Amino acid sequence: MPDALTVLRDTFGFDSFRPPQDEVIDTLVRGDNALLVMPTGSGKSLCYQLPAIVRPGCGVVISPLIALMQNQVEALAEIGVRASFLNSTLDAATASRIEESVRRGELDLLYIAPERLVQPRTLDLLHESKISLFAIDEAHCVSEWGHDFRADYLSLSLLAEQFANVPRIALTATADARTRKDIAKRLGLEDARHFMAGFDRPNIRYSIMLKQNPRSQLLRFLRVEHPHDAGIVYCLSRKRTEEVAGWLTAEGYTALPYHAGLDAGVRAQHQSRFLREEGVIIVATIAFGMGIDKPDVRFVAHLDLPKTVESYYQETGRAGRDGAPADAWMVYGLQDVIKLRQMLESSTGSDEFKRVEQHRLNAMLGLCEITSCRRQALLAYFDEAYPEPCGNCDTCLSPVETWDGTDAARKALSAVYRTGQRFGVNQVVDVLRGKESDKVFQFDHHRLAVFGVGKDLDENTWRSVFRQLVARGYLRVDVEGYGALKLEESCRALLRGDETIYLRKDEKQKPAPKSARGARASLVPEDEAIDENLWEALRERRKELAEAQRVPPYVIFHDSTLRAMAHLMPQSSTEFARLPGVGERKRERYADAFLEVIRDHLDSGEAGPPRQELAPE
Ligand code: ADP
Ligand code: ZN
Repeated sequence: MPDALTVLRDTFGFDSFRPPQDEVIDTLVRGDNALLVMPTGSGKSLCYQLPAIVRPGCGVVISPLIALMQNQVEALAEIGVRASFLNSTLDAATASRIEESVRRGELDLLYIAPERLVQPRTLDLLHESKISLFAIDEAHCVSEWGHDFRADYLSLSLLAEQFANVPRIALTATADARTRKDIAKRLGLEDARHFMAGFDRPNIRYSIMLKQNPRSQLLRFLRVEHPHDAGIVYCLSRKRTEEVAGWLTAEGYTALPYHAGLDAGVRAQHQSRFLREEGVIIVATIAFGMGIDKPDVRFVAHLDLPKTVESYYQETGRAGRDGAPADAWMVYGLQDVIKLRQMLESSTGSDEFKRVEQHRLNAMLGLCEITSCRRQALLAYFDEAYPEPCGNCDTCLSPVETWDGTDAARKALSAVYRTGQRFGVNQVVDVLRGKESDKVFQFDHHRLAVFGVGKDLDENTWRSVFRQLVARGYLRVDVEGYGALKLEESCRALLRGDETIYLRKDEKQKPAPKSARGARASLVPEDEAIDENLWEALRERRKELAEAQRVPPYVIFHDSTLRAMAHLMPQSSTEFARLPGVGERKRERYADAFLEVIRDHLDSGEAGPPRQELAPE
């Protein structure tokens, strides 16, 4: 058997394993079973692909995501691994041909959909062939407790019964203790070694800002941070996704809407453009994402607040699967809270369901208003401790200023009380600021003791106070009463003066820059000298190669490889092979094409900073 590290270097072009990849691989190569829970983008696929190459026979990967199989197989073919798939998209003749190559031992990896696997014809095939391992991807689908239960997965218990001597690995990105137990029980993996890697996604930078003018805020973010990058913008409603996509298009971006109400053909077309073209922005409802395996999504932007921390984590997790820097960016405001509460109230769920959902929404609001490290709070929500502030979220990078809002909060709460808990934020703020409006006179609010007691703070500050009081659960927004503010039990201590409260100072909004010119792509880190012309030229070459082969650009090279190329500017095939993500096969196929671009660049006299030395072997 070839040794695992050699395959890692020569075939995959990586220098070292990311823990616990090495241990998982050892376990399978030895012939033992494993259960692996690791976050998206942390490198799960290598854990079965590599042992399948090392062990004699064909590795069988069971995956429910048919759309992904082709991508995976294309990417494997690129590095010289013999892989194929069997699913309903193939015609009978092609399927037979693939079955034949499995029998003859010509494949390293075979991807199969679960419903296909359990057909007698497939089982016969597997019994007649040499199988190196079974990998059960998205293994949480076997648990009714998880959110993606698939009945097909239950029959996978037959693998343990019929192929007792073939090692099995179950993989998933999300499984709490109960789901893990289900997986182990149903797939016969009680004796398997369990590997759990943390939830953290260190390359994702989290930022959550107050929603002021969402469009110009988004535009500013795109122009400054991601002028040419692919990303996803999430909105709550179908109508809004179309409006925002139309507007972004008018601003010069390639932006496509995606939601469940679109015609299936249009949806498929938008998805495929997102995967295959560079720099496409998808504006979507949450319907978009499941089964999208695009590694170079550089940002996920939320224009509306997700309902739960789980959704937020899952949606933002679609950014930066290739491990390169990526942004999770969100704007949120009081209106979001009201809208989500409304949706919840009008849903048909039981009272118990609504209570649980309310609780989860409150956790999401807590994350928005927190003044300490976002990553620590996020991980704590998933019961994971993170020892230090992360240094890669907005609150770490520009610490939030806070102020003693005790007095303001008390005024705000008593104004709600004095006006009878029947009015929304606007009216209560008018009362506090002593505004002599028609509505104030209509309800005699100018006679109240609280009238004008809040003149010292401006309107925006008062709105910020109310938003934070709602987010922290001192006030609630009554949905049936047209957004009337109501006191919650917990506000008593504050009103009595037994509690102090610190509030965050909202940042002032900065205007969007006029144009994208001169802005740098965020994935080129500030401290690495990279010539932008070279970067663009390398991307262009990658695009040509991708188009010629009809594969997505990242199948040729991931951004991280391209970035290293622009940074290190290799000038020989040997130097080229030292780039991360370049194995034997990719060197053979692509070194010349990219070396040419680098040479042209150096010859053009436009080359910027001197090139760095490549480390010797
Ligand atoms: P997952 O299946 O866990 O979502 P992938 O298997 O798609 O993640 O891997 C995510 C990225 O990490 C891919 O770009 C992959 O090439 C890269 N990767 C995996 N293992 C390593 C490694 N040992 N060294 C460097 N990059 C790696
Ligand atoms: Zn942080």
